Amino acid sequence: MFLRLLPLIIFVACAFKPAATHHVPKPHIISKDEWGGKAPTNDIVEQQISKITIHHGGVDVPEDKDPIEYMRNLQSFSIDEKHWIDIPYHFCIDLDGAIYEARPLKYPGDTNTEYNPDGHALICVIGNYENQKIKPSQLDAIVNLSAWLADKYNIPVTEIASHKDYSTMTVCPGADLYKYLQDGTIVKRVQEILDKSKQE
Ligand SMILES: [Zn+2]
Repeated sequence: MFLRLLPLIIFVACAFKPAATHHVPKPHIISKDEWGGKAPTNDIVEQQISKITIHHGGVDVPEDKDPIEYMRNLQSFSIDEKHWIDIPYHFCIDLDGAIYEARPLKYPGDTNTEYNPDGHALICVIGNYENQKIKPSQLDAIVNLSAWLADKYNIPVTEIASHKDYSTMTVCPGADLYKYLQDGTIVKRVQEILDKSKQE
């Protein structure tokens, strides 16, 4: 009897297996507490993440700039001058490729341009990539962070894009970063990490 039921048991077990577990490792992210950031000033309507959108800061940042000071200034500017609840992005990447936690992911970001960032996980690479060159460590950070987010929130790699893909008002994320989106490098590398994690 048991043997006759076995195929059914296996079928049921497969049909009801728990939701996919996440295998892509979380990259090291410097928390708000570690860089001295404040909590958002307000609660706003929460978002469901379905896209990953890449930005640059748009301001030239010299190599010797302290990234912690940059993050603190960006948060003060965002709250005091722009009257946003927090930094407009969810993550920032510094000139060496270190990743910083910014606005909590549950809240939609903010923008100075016309697109609606609701549903987007926003990654900002500090610096101006119209003028500066993206370094391999920064590209690694974009790829590792995007792969972790894509896995965690089930975001198709086709939904990884940049600010200028949604807005005609900006050159963001700058020519030297945009080229890696345009030629498919970033998406291809994210897909490789996702594929590898599923074989493990
Ligand atoms: Zn942007």
